[in-house]
Amino acid sequence: MKGEVKLLDENGLRVDGRKPDQMRELKIEVGVLKNADGSAYLELGNNKVIVAVYGPREVKPRHVELPNRAIIRCKYAMAPFSVEERKSPAPSRREIELSKVIREALEPAIFLEAYPRTSIDVFIEILEADGGTRTASINAASVALADAGIPMRDLVSAIAVGKINGTLVIDLNGIEDQYGDGDMPIAMMPRLGLITLLQADGSFTPKELERALEMATKTMGIIYQKQKKALKEKYLRIAKEVMENVE
Ligand code: ADP
Repeated sequence: MKGEVKLLDENGLRVDGRKPDQMRELKIEVGVLKNADGSAYLELGNNKVIVAVYGPREVKPRHVELPNRAIIRCKYAMAPFSVEERKSPAPSRREIELSKVIREALEPAIFLEAYPRTSIDVFIEILEADGGTRTASINAASVALADAGIPMRDLVSAIAVGKINGTLVIDLNGIEDQYGDGDMPIAMMPRLGLITLLQADGSFTPKELERALEMATKTMGIIYQKQKKALKEKYLRIAKEVMENVE
């Protein structure tokens, strides 16, 4: 089936009307959970993700703590209602793998050595999934970590580049992911210009890889600005509330 379904129309537009280099609408809200140290809610097209961060805090069980740095524990879970057919609430192999992939994409950004013998716990819940949940999760988790006040070298921004009917496109949706020819999720620390995640499904030529990195870098620049704006908005909201209480 892959590669045989028409995913680009005669005008070069995609199944949801987007141009090849156009990402889906992105919305980010920071500080949505009162009980967490940091949190974020993010929508990327139809994907809906909520992230809660706790820590740095004492590690339980103690034997997994590290004497010279904090550990990150990351749990990516899809709600049973997040996909068309009910997903079993038991963690699947895919969810266990994605938890690791997301953790590894975030770790280089965090000053782990600042908090020995502690853990930073990142809980990611996918409320609705439509292709690209790992990149949506990384974008949300990185602002939730910043919201928790965890010192970071940079935020991490992420997006996938895909190939549909032989054309490179940014940010695959569920249908494109299912019937396209390739999917390459990428995460980076935009200010530092360092890639922290690069995966690929399907096949890409070296030239396509170069172009894919270019497209992703450009889009991650837009995501990075939205992440910073969402963080600022939360603190402006708090400042406003404080001022209102003073008056
Ligand atoms: P990503 O969400 O990062 O693209 P995958 O490539 O593994 O990760 O998944 C692609 C898409 O497939 C998901 O975003 C989701 O829309 C769909 N999907 C994943 N797992 C399931 C499932 N158990 N049932 C139905 N759809 C699923």
